[in-house]
Amino acid sequence: MDRRFNREQEKLRERTRAFVQKEVPPEVARRLDAEGAYPRGIMAKLAAQGFWGINVAEKYGGRGGGIIELMIFFEEISKNLPVLAWTSGNVLLYGNNILQVNGNEEQQKRFLPGLMNGEYLFCFALTEPDAGSDAANIITRAEPVDGGYRINGSKVFISGASVSHIAVTNTRTASSRYKGITSFLVDTDQEGYRAAPIRKLGYKGSDTCEVYYKDVDVTRENILGGEDCYNQGWKQMMRLLNGERLVLSACALGISETVLKGLVDHLKERQKISRIQGRYQAVEHGIAEMAARVEAGRQLAFQSAWMVDQQMECVKETSMTKLFCAETGKAVTRLGMEVMGRLGYTMECDLQRFYRDIPILSIGGGTSQIQKNIISKLMGL
Ligand SMILES: Cc1cc2nc3c(=O)[nH]c(=O)nc-3n(C[C@H](O)[C@H](O)[C@H](O)COP(=O)(O)OP(=O)(O)OC[C@H]3O[C@@H](n4cnc5c(N)ncnc54)[C@H](O)[C@@H]3O)c2cc1C
Repeated sequence: MDRRFNREQEKLRERTRAFVQKEVPPEVARRLDAEGAYPRGIMAKLAAQGFWGINVAEKYGGRGGGIIELMIFFEEISKNLPVLAWTSGNVLLYGNNILQVNGNEEQQKRFLPGLMNGEYLFCFALTEPDAGSDAANIITRAEPVDGGYRINGSKVFISGASVSHIAVTNTRTASSRYKGITSFLVDTDQEGYRAAPIRKLGYKGSDTCEVYYKDVDVTRENILGGEDCYNQGWKQMMRLLNGERLVLSACALGISETVLKGLVDHLKERQKISRIQGRYQAVEHGIAEMAARVEAGRQLAFQSAWMVDQQMECVKETSMTKLFCAETGKAVTRLGMEVMGRLGYTMECDLQRFYRDIPILSIGGGTSQIQKNIISKLMGL
């Protein structure tokens, strides 16, 4: 047993690992990737097996887990079909986590039970054509009308936006860059809401969309956290960042571990055929180096998670973790391509899927360059 985890956490890892092995074996992962559709069947099974309660407070019927439980789940669920991590985010992160960190009690009571039983999906709508890394640049606006607010504007690259029931929508409500943003729980059945999926390189099936809001009306009660949180959207988002960085780091670790294991198996086979000692030493050194980097990433990730749990100041550590794990993931998959040679280049080889999936982990949740900006700033530069 890993000394960093308690018995419950070890059980969660075993349960998630068993789920992935049974429900998402490589042939299923290949089929789902090729189809590119939102994996509703697998999501329903995850709901039925109680995974959607792992980070919900016990008072709402959940398991009461925190960041470590989320990381364990996201690391394991990324191993055969990484997009499942993204779609799980439509419940665990954009639903459960956002509501518990920033929602009020009425909103938690209204939505958490339905999130846990698989009835609801949430998406998080922040990015706009001119507001990616510079997220405070959003211009989608919510203007006061009788009884509430009217939203007009558009978003891009919103994952799960055409399948979700609620879009947590960040809007401009005053001119102040940071104190003029309000987050609304928008019912996607509402007239004027439209989402159109974007074709993309990897993470096929995550339903990443352009979203249009045309005169979408919301009530004051639908301000995330309630009326007191008007113009508090930026502050609310900042509270999510440490967790988001660590969860994405866990996804990168899961992918890296699968790719490394595949490479070791492949090389062992090759060595059986060609017994010339030392022939593969350069490759072996590459793999050893990557294995060391992945292990270092895990240490850093769970050390940072422990700091989050202890409510310690750890923005620098979570940024370092995200930077290191995402870049390590890219390096591991690139090495994989080199080692596999022509085999890695075929669509029959699973490696090509991980190679297509991994780049998003150094883009979403703050790019690697943005993490470097944060780290250097916190070092006083
Ligand atoms: C598959 C996918 C799913 C996504 N899902 C969601 C979602 O569900 N919800 C959502 O709101 N968004 C989502 N996004 C958007 C994501 O959050 C943004 O792509 C990300 O914030 C980066 O913004 P950008 O793509 O506009 O890049 P830009 O900000 O335009 O950056 C382009 C390049 O410039 C660099 N750069 C920018 N500013 C700086 C700076 N100050 N210093 C140094 N370098 C800089 C960046 O690092 C990057 O290399 C998703 C994106 C993808 C690809």
